[in-house]
Amino acid sequence: MLIVMKPSATQAEIDAVVERIRSLGLTPHPIPGAQRVAIGITGNKSGLDPDPFTILPGVADAIRVSQPFKLVSREVKPEDTVIDVGGVPLGGPAIALMAGPCSVESREQILETAHAVKAAGARFLRGGAYKPRTSPYEFQGLAEEGLRLLALAREQTGLKVVTEVMDVETLPMVCDYADVLQIGARNMQNFSLLKQLGTLRKPVLLKRGPSATIKEWLMAAEYVLSRGNYQVALCERGIRTFETMTRNTLDINAVPVLKALTHLPVVVDPSHGIGLRAHVAAVARAGVAAGADGLIVEVHPHPEKALSDGHQSLTPAEFEGLVAQVRVIGSALGRPLSS
Ligand code: PEP
Ligand code: MN
Repeated sequence: MLIVMKPSATQAEIDAVVERIRSLGLTPHPIPGAQRVAIGITGNKSGLDPDPFTILPGVADAIRVSQPFKLVSREVKPEDTVIDVGGVPLGGPAIALMAGPCSVESREQILETAHAVKAAGARFLRGGAYKPRTSPYEFQGLAEEGLRLLALAREQTGLKVVTEVMDVETLPMVCDYADVLQIGARNMQNFSLLKQLGTLRKPVLLKRGPSATIKEWLMAAEYVLSRGNYQVALCERGIRTFETMTRNTLDINAVPVLKALTHLPVVVDPSHGIGLRAHVAAVARAGVAAGADGLIVEVHPHPEKALSDGHQSLTPAEFEGLVAQVRVIGSALGRPLSS
């Protein structure tokens, strides 16, 4: 249920509706909008009767939300969500560029990459300190040392840090260093982790599970919003299909479909989406053309020496070329790169 307040509603009237929702054992979610405040209601096990709400002072309407996902839906919040990551927007008209290595490997590697991607136009530095590797014998990341190196790179460049958190145990520590918490594809439906993220007030980049439907993905985001953390962006990173020539199949359809269904920012990861360095730029261009609000791209100063995902990592020069192309496509759509 969504309670839409009149544009003229007073704060006292809004507070009274919030109180009434609480008194029924339900959870109110006030959503400020450009024209009026709306209040989402969650926690009801069956359909709610709108009538007792429509008679309250200041209420314009009480609407049943038709989608199973509520707080993430455009029905509930028509305006795009813009996440303020320490002064850098994620979502909204500007396209956010995130770039960096798959894994943080060393001080030299992360600092060199950070300076290079910043010069090319990125505002966010990506890099994993905890890596979800398919094989237990592969490089697992530098753990807290990797987080410290990311913080050092942030200090030197001003880039915002996007890094993966893999479990509830390391969440407090990763939070101390990250500006955006990346939830990896394999953890999209880790419900205990999602519930914990909901208690934080920190931006989350929720990657799509390799076999998750758009609905399952939106329901995973709903877990986080339903507990009060509204700062969630979605990241399309390719799904598993019958195709074997590419690492994954980037679901370009998901971009416009999500933009219609949800107000949350949509980021495209062309690196994992195709898994082939030669074609990363093409997929990045397609993502922006389809309406993505951001890109997250793997960049390594020496991809041939990378400890993970070197085959899909761009050199800084290649990334610069990608940014130049994306800038042109963005401007054709009236979307500048975030500066
Ligand atoms: C990554 O970003 O390096 C990563 C492991 O991504 P995903 O969770 O999408 O596989
Ligand atoms: Mn990777």
